[in-house]
Amino acid sequence: MNALQATDPEIHALICQEEERQSDKIRLIASENYVSNSVMQATGSVLTNKYSEGYPGKRYYEGQQIIDQVESVAIARVKAVFAAEHVNVQPYSGSPANIATYLAFLQPGDTILGMALPHGGHLTHGAPVSISGRYFRAESYSVDPESKRLDYDQVRKRALECRPRLLVAGHSAHPRILDFAKFRQIADEVGAIFMVDMAHFSGLVAGGAHPSPVPYADVVTTTTHKSLRGPRGAMILCRDQYAAAIDKAVFPGLQGGPHDHTTAAIAVAMKEAASDAFKDYAHQVVKNARTLAKTLLDKGFNLVTGGTDNHLLLVDLSATGLSSKKVAKALDRAGIVLNYNTIPFDTRKPTDPGGIRMGACAVTSRGFKEKDMVFVGDIIAAVIARLDDEAFLAKTAAHVKEYCRQFPAPGLGHLLA
Ligand SMILES: *Cc1c(COP(=O)(O)O)cnc(C)c1O
Repeated sequence: MNALQATDPEIHALICQEEERQSDKIRLIASENYVSNSVMQATGSVLTNKYSEGYPGKRYYEGQQIIDQVESVAIARVKAVFAAEHVNVQPYSGSPANIATYLAFLQPGDTILGMALPHGGHLTHGAPVSISGRYFRAESYSVDPESKRLDYDQVRKRALECRPRLLVAGHSAHPRILDFAKFRQIADEVGAIFMVDMAHFSGLVAGGAHPSPVPYADVVTTTTHKSLRGPRGAMILCRDQYAAAIDKAVFPGLQGGPHDHTTAAIAVAMKEAASDAFKDYAHQVVKNARTLAKTLLDKGFNLVTGGTDNHLLLVDLSATGLSSKKVAKALDRAGIVLNYNTIPFDTRKPTDPGGIRMGACAVTSRGFKEKDMVFVGDIIAAVIARLDDEAFLAKTAAHVKEYCRQFPAPGLGHLLA
């Protein structure tokens, strides 16, 4: 019996059940992934016992002989993977990384301009319910009503109107590659700091399957746990001239002690991200997303922008009259896990919006290839055609579970053993 099972059978059993769920279902949530055993081991290590406020060589507690090396290795690896001048690996997650960046460059009340939340932007890009929309004057740009892609003349027009101190590019639900050079020009024209939040697609950037924003942006933030396939965490990459401001904003500006176990796991993930295997992974993610998109298009579904360039797709269900929440819940009962999502110019309420979002990062980590994405697309279409047929949903869930047996998921099985 392992220690957790002996001391806390209740939580042990729940974790085991979650392992089974992650093993038996097809996980299409675009922000999720499966980390490797190595990342999992670093995350669950004794480094969680340490306090190390400050930065390597400049700490406020003693006993940093090893931790300083861990953080320095992590930073060096991130710099190498993304060709970044300066890196801070301490943000606790993506949202605090963005808030720290605002703290580095802005005063309360300054203007930020980002992609509107219903158009694919993130809460922390100025949504009214977020601190980013309450402490700053948040303005937004939208996608083009026809193409649902960014119209850079419109972004420029908005920038000239509201004169942001900081311009944000990046998204959580946009299936297309952004033109970072155009954003840079617009930022220069209005004298704004140019920030890219690559939380969703940083793994594709690391693997060479998506253009890098690093040469264009003043500052780039990213989570480490989405396509990048690292632990729950985040980092900020910036030009050397902003290094001191960013570091001061993260600590002591926003946070206390860094999560050293996460820092170690980021280092491990960055070693993996530098490998040829990860390049193959990133390219396979894009191929898999495209194959799923094509499968759904062939079955008559509407996709926002008509397809995808990255790891995610957004299905516009508005013409079907179906509730996206009901669709997402039925799919979950059938073994396909995804989320309902707003679509640009949505006319439905955010708690039951017009679309569903899906991504290929997690299934690709367990070895799904194009033919498997056709299987996934076929199942999604079949379930959407029979939403109220509980027997069919249960039969499909069993079929999905059986199918998933061919693809053992990385990082699972520690506690089941
Ligand atoms: C996921 C995400 C974040 C926030 O990350 P958390 O770790 O959930 O705080 C920030 N920005 C974008 C674009 C994201 O997709």
